[in-house]
Parts: sequence; C-alpha cells; structure tokens
Amino acid sequence: MEITEVRIFLKEGQDKKLKAYATLTFDRSFVVRNVKVIEGNKGLFVAMPSRRLKEACPKCGFKNVMRSKYCNQCAAALPQGEPRPMRMPGDDTARQSEHKDIAHPITAEFREYIQKKVLDAYEDEKRRGPSQVGVSTFRTEIEEDNDIEL
Ligand SMILES: [Zn+2]
Repeated sequence: MEITEVRIFLKEGQDKKLKAYATLTFDRSFVVRNVKVIEGNKGLFVAMPSRRLKEACPKCGFKNVMRSKYCNQCAAALPQGEPRPMRMPGDDTARQSEHKDIAHPITAEFREYIQKKVLDAYEDEKRRGPSQVGVSTFRTEIEEDNDIEL
C-alpha cells in the first residue's frame, strides 16, 4: 500500500503542540483525514485520527470523558480501577490515553512510512508558508475529536 497524496494544513500559533492536520490518500482510492502532526517531548510525531472515549456513569448513565473522577451530571465518584492502556511510541501526551484511534497502521514499518511521508510533507509546507485557501476551506471540514460512546 502506498500513500499517493499528502495534504498538509498548518495550524496557526506554532507554539502549540498541534502543528498541522494532514489528509492522506492511499493508493489513489482511500482518504484518511484528521491525521495530526504533534510536537512531542522527543520531536514531531504523527497521530492518527482519534475519538475521545466516554464512559457512562454507573449511577445516572451520563457519559463522562474517560478517567473523570466525578460524574459531571450527578457528582458521583466514578470507578478508577482500570489500568492505563499501552501507549504507542511517540504518543507522549497524557491526552492520548483518553483517545482511541479510528484508523491506524498495524505494522511498525507502515507506521514509520506514514510518519516519514507526513513529516516530509509538513516540512515542505512549512517552507512554502501556509496556503490561505487550503487552510480556510479545510477548517470548515474538520470535526475534531468526535465523541465515541462505550
Ligand atoms: Zn452520574
């Protein structure tokens, strides 16, 4: 499988951890959007599109963001027993543990390949400067972190 197109959408405010969104086309036939370029402690890495996990309150059923201590609806203490999931290499933000990837590579080789393609395209785009047209049209399409219910 090959990445046949990478479109990079730089984010304003380059001091923030989220540097850009990317849209990837695989084999000219499959598109994945909301791929993110993130500045981690060990440099840039690519995060696959993800959804924020939610957990139902055992008392009232209100869906709270994972690992909340108290229910936002009824203020009941929420169970905290669950161990933290394994983190992928490079995903070193605490936020990642509350998110589930929607689409992701399953081999280290392909993860490397995606990462290189996206980061190369990101560096190119940065050198070229933000494309105002691309940024503004894309922004309306982004649905960031859609919630998923467990
Ligand atoms: Zn509750």
